[in-house]
Amino acid sequence: MPFSSLSHIQDRLNHGETTAIEVAKLYLDRITEHNKTLNAFVHIDDEHVLAQAKASDTYRAEHGARALEGLPIAIKDIFCTQHGPTRCCSKILEGFEAPYDAHVITKLKEAGAVLVGKTNMDEFAMGSSNETSAFGACHNPWDTSRIPGGSSGGSASAVAAALTPAALGTDTGGSIRQPASLTGITGLKPTYGRVSRRGIIAFASSLDQAGPMTRNVKDAAMITSVISGHDAGDATSVADAPELDWLGACDKKDMKGLRIGVPKEYFVEGMDAEVRASVENALKQCEDLGAELIDISLPNTNLAVAAYYVIAPSEASANLSRYDSVRFGHRCKNPEDLLDMYTRSRDEGFGAEVKRRILTGAFALSSGYYDAYYLKAQQVRTLISQDFKDAFEKVDVIATPTSPITAFKLGEKTDDPLTMYLSDIYTIAVNLAGLPGLSQPCGFAEGLPVGLQWIAPAWREDVLLGAAAAYEAATDWHTKVPTGFGGES
Ligand code: GLN
Repeated sequence: MPFSSLSHIQDRLNHGETTAIEVAKLYLDRITEHNKTLNAFVHIDDEHVLAQAKASDTYRAEHGARALEGLPIAIKDIFCTQHGPTRCCSKILEGFEAPYDAHVITKLKEAGAVLVGKTNMDEFAMGSSNETSAFGACHNPWDTSRIPGGSSGGSASAVAAALTPAALGTDTGGSIRQPASLTGITGLKPTYGRVSRRGIIAFASSLDQAGPMTRNVKDAAMITSVISGHDAGDATSVADAPELDWLGACDKKDMKGLRIGVPKEYFVEGMDAEVRASVENALKQCEDLGAELIDISLPNTNLAVAAYYVIAPSEASANLSRYDSVRFGHRCKNPEDLLDMYTRSRDEGFGAEVKRRILTGAFALSSGYYDAYYLKAQQVRTLISQDFKDAFEKVDVIATPTSPITAFKLGEKTDDPLTMYLSDIYTIAVNLAGLPGLSQPCGFAEGLPVGLQWIAPAWREDVLLGAAAAYEAATDWHTKVPTGFGGES
């Protein structure tokens, strides 16, 4: 059971073979057993979880099951939840309890889900390894001396080790897809505007999007169908987004007639040879399933990381200015005056990477440099969007590796921000263009999971899900479980 998918657990609940309480207890026991090793959860309240499960069993008995009735879902520490702390894994949010639930949290609750604790993450979602967390690094269950990816590393590690069957993450430059890839699970970043950002602690508002991290494709569809939809409380939530048959999209068993674009810029020197081999092998299997592989070019790909690291820090520097320690969060001891209070509180509260982003962003937005950096980066962003538009004239979907490398060792890249930034070389352009992207497991390189990324035109998550579901039906990578976490049995 622990390594079951959400849909399998749902079946068992629907057939009366188990109860939400039983399911909740099973995962709580696993958290107790394994969280010391993984540090995937930074907050867990067993009683609250059990109370939700009990309420769900009662609801089912009285009214029948809602879309996610009794299903446990872990929540990245970036989502505001009325119950328990919300800290974005930063010291500056010490003691903060959100006054309201994020829109997606309300949606999950309304669908009957049981929310399981808060998962570890890079501080303010800035990172690719989960090492910038104020609560310490999180570990990859496939090799606990390695990182799980980031920034949604806790959610990824928890799902991969079956401490929860599913989790929510956020993706600004790859933070759902890259950790999903590095831990061998499925992660979906919806089209920008599909899911409301209200109550999600903002990093880079024009890029941030929430999505599911799950054990298979259908589970990702189940959660996305619940959390998506217009919210008048988020001006960037799109009112007339095309509705999709989320679950129906996952019924695909073949790829007949599917035109898959393979961008040459995503298979470059410097990528791990075994990662490349796994992805190329996956592409061959897609051909066997009836797809046509078409060589394409996304010529501005090499500018994506540079543009992102101007745009994201610029937006972050504005968003993070709200942490002034006046009404909530960490405050320094014995401030001399107001300025001293602001500066020392922020100095003590933010970690090094967050400070680096704030400084870079403030610099890029300053009047003398705005045109040279911020404006240029926005122009590059337009070019990148145009590359995708041109490509989607010729193909239905694009397939690439999710990450050029597998999970690296803890501490390996912490002294070198630039190599860390390159971890997201294959995921960042998708955020810049606002497109949906999905990562699913497609093999192993020296015992570590490799991810295959699918990219579709805006609002066509059904195409992503269809391709990924067909690949999943023909392979068994998604069923592999890490040894040492009870997966052997
Ligand atoms: N790793 C990227 C960064 O550090 C992306 C993070 C994210 O998607 N939240 O900004």
